[in-house]
Amino acid sequence: MAVTPLFKCVCGIQKKTSNHWVLAKVTGTDIRFMPWDPKLALKDDIIVLCGEGCAAALLSRSMGEWKSSASEAKPTELAVA
Ligand SMILES: [Zn+2]
Repeated sequence: MAVTPLFKCVCGIQKKTSNHWVLAKVTGTDIRFMPWDPKLALKDDIIVLCGEGCAAALLSRSMGEWKSSASEAKPTELAVA
């Protein structure tokens, strides 16, 4: 019997068949949302999201991180280099 993988959103909700889930991929400079794909969802660098609400939260968090890293201008890294 095949094991059905369990998918869990960042908010802790577990995926059920009726949910409209989406996928996201975040790197340091890029965020991308993708339609649900069970094969993609198994990848380590893919973030599983239970819907628009969590996708929006992830987007806003990532944009916040970009803003703070841009405004700080990385003084420690400059000092080291
Ligand atoms: Zn969620």
